[in-house]
Amino acid sequence: MLETRKASAVNGQQVLDVKMYINGKWKDASDNQTREVINPATGEVIAYAAEGTIADAREAIFAAREAFESGVWSDLPPMERAAYLYKIADKIEEQAEEMAKLETADNGKPLREAGFDMGDAAACFRYYAGMITQPDGQTYHVADPMQAMVVREPIGVCGLIVPWNFPLLMSVWKIAPALAAGNTIVFKPSEITPINPTNLIKIIEEAGVPKGVVNLVHGAGPVVGNEIASHKEIDMVSFTGGTKTGKHIMKAAADTIKKVSLELGGKSPNIIFADADFDVAVDYALFGIYCGSGQVCSAGSRILVEEGIYDQFIKRFTERAKQIKVGPGLDEETEMGPLVSKEHMEKVLSYIELGKKEGARLLFGGERLTGENLGNGYFVAPTAFADTTLEMRIVQEEIFGPVAAIQKFSGEEEAIRLANGTDYGLAGAVFTADGAKAMRVIKKLRAGITWINSYHPTYNEAPWGGYKQSGIGRSLGTFGLEEFQEIKQININMQVEETGWFKN
Ligand code: NDP
Repeated sequence: MLETRKASAVNGQQVLDVKMYINGKWKDASDNQTREVINPATGEVIAYAAEGTIADAREAIFAAREAFESGVWSDLPPMERAAYLYKIADKIEEQAEEMAKLETADNGKPLREAGFDMGDAAACFRYYAGMITQPDGQTYHVADPMQAMVVREPIGVCGLIVPWNFPLLMSVWKIAPALAAGNTIVFKPSEITPINPTNLIKIIEEAGVPKGVVNLVHGAGPVVGNEIASHKEIDMVSFTGGTKTGKHIMKAAADTIKKVSLELGGKSPNIIFADADFDVAVDYALFGIYCGSGQVCSAGSRILVEEGIYDQFIKRFTERAKQIKVGPGLDEETEMGPLVSKEHMEKVLSYIELGKKEGARLLFGGERLTGENLGNGYFVAPTAFADTTLEMRIVQEEIFGPVAAIQKFSGEEEAIRLANGTDYGLAGAVFTADGAKAMRVIKKLRAGITWINSYHPTYNEAPWGGYKQSGIGRSLGTFGLEEFQEIKQININMQVEETGWFKN
């Protein structure tokens, strides 16, 4: 765990000192700049993180390149790489309690959510440790005397860029398969939540992974992130974040034709038919949008309700949402924490104002919450708009906060048209008692992750990613490993003799 501390410029208290890890050494930024890391529940500085430079990013990229070319990691038998990954999983579990508290302090999420993330992170390392030792590749029966086969190889140096909403878990979804496949990495977490991503690298160091294999650079996305996305010595960039940033990354990667994998934003529909189990549907609708304060890429931010139960749904949804306990994540009673930063809170509040101007009916919430235990935190009340229409910006754009847009529909066809009516295609759900209808609707949804009579569960075993402007490629499952592998065709001649093609 991070041990080094320095005095806060605000109150002189000791706070965490978050360094970078390049070529096996912990380092400050080359120009010694740092950035404040803020606890969003209190507005207080809890750490200073190195603000990396382009020079730091390049040092990390060259270290990763050298480590890759040396074969110190890629040449290890998969069983040996797997042993390191199992060790990392064990260490995450040993430190899970403390790391969960740090995740809550850094990101704001309630402790119980952070606890799940720690468990999932350890399980993800174990999952890919097991997978990399399994048989893979293919053989083909081609014309004699040839035999063709396909093997999978690491891509090389992978640049991994992740956001702030699941600081540890989003890091692990990339680092575990990238390392399992034999790549070396340059990793940039969000500068807003660098603490547990850095703790993870400390754990990787303690597990004995050779120097240069894993490199951590902090710093601004447009500086350090852009350098990673555009540098010639990076063979692949795997990015999770907003769609707008994803477009920058694709452009930055184009000049060097590097492989690009993108997990982007969403505006996911949660479709509730009149024949659904009513209480279950209301419950999951709340969970779909307010879990993580709505800062979840797959959040069910558009709730489509069939006309026969629309008014009844709004009544019950409102009653229950008003009872959600908002507070600091470390408070055991808390069910919904703050938003991650002041800037993000202001963005969410401005979308709420926009919704009012667009003529949507504000049902509840809509304001910043302050009060006894909320101090200077960035709390926004659970909020919902009813009577929204597809043209509204609050229906089309990702707000990434606790703001639901509720819309009425009539019948299957309209539900599908509305559900598919945005540029996004990440997730979606259907609630109904009619199994055949559920399948008909799900098959028409242009989305990569779907649920029937459920919302949000995610499994290491199953691929995660979006259609349309929600991304390219998949995390998790076998697909998540393949993202970090090249495919090589090998043709073997079993009769070694001249071709006879040219006469002389
Ligand atoms: P951003 O796109 O703003 O940032 C994501 C990461 O990219 C951060 O590390 C950021 O750095 C970096 N970055 C920013 N600009 C650039 C750039 N020009 N070049 C390279 N890197 C850059 O997203 P947020 O952090 O705001 O995260 C929220 C978004 O992530 C939402 O849209 C959400 O839907 C999406 N997301 C998608 C998931 C999925 O699986 N599909 C899962 C989780 C989140 P820094 O912030 O440090 O400057």
